[in-house]
Amino acid sequence: KKIVIAIDGYSSCGKSTTAKLVAAELGYAYIDTGAMYRAVTLYFLENHVSFTNPKEIADALANIDITFHYNAKAKRNEVFLNGLNVEDEIRKMYISNQVSEVSVIKEVRRALVAQQQKMGRKRGVVMDGRDIGTAVFPDAEVKIFMTADVDTRARRRQQELLAKKQLENLDTIKQNLEKRDLIDSTRAESPLRRAEDAYLLDTSHMTIDEQVDFVLDKVTT
Ligand code: C5P
Repeated sequence: KKIVIAIDGYSSCGKSTTAKLVAAELGYAYIDTGAMYRAVTLYFLENHVSFTNPKEIADALANIDITFHYNAKAKRNEVFLNGLNVEDEIRKMYISNQVSEVSVIKEVRRALVAQQQKMGRKRGVVMDGRDIGTAVFPDAEVKIFMTADVDTRARRRQQELLAKKQLENLDTIKQNLEKRDLIDSTRAESPLRRAEDAYLLDTSHMTIDEQVDFVLDKVTT
């Protein structure tokens, strides 16, 4: 029987790395919901959409189409905004700096949550985000809540950016992570929190293989 695996947690604690490998192992689809909030943020910034004007927000959402396509050459899933590949653009710091402000907008959440539920309705998905186990799929068969100490997370994010030739100061990254975690966990609409039935996974001192095994171990189908 195919199930839904929900992986939530703080920024940069290895959710997507783990989720991708778990999905590959099980032959499941992997859905990066953070990429969707990032794509909406990119659209809002490019089109100067006010974060507080309901009409502008509604018009923008009506014009946003987000899809995922597998790039066989790069061996990764990539996100497309209105037909354009924005996978690299949405990972940049200027998006990270605004995405949590866009993610608090309830119309944005409603639209993306509905799309995420549709994408996972046949199950057989690993979805990572902040509210998957609490709001998107409260009935997910396996829920994981990931965390790691903030210095470890900042260092990992710095390495990730460096691999893409983006040089960022460690303190700048750390401040961004702390700011996002604060906004994400205090917003009114489905804040970041551990679902009661989610397994807590602290990755501070774990290898990627250990994280993947931890999740696979909870899958008993
Ligand atoms: O996962 P990632 O760090 O790319 O997510 C970027 C931001 O998108 C988060 O900091 C959060 O503000 C928002 N987000 C969210 N709900 C999700 C996934 C991401 O609010 N399910």
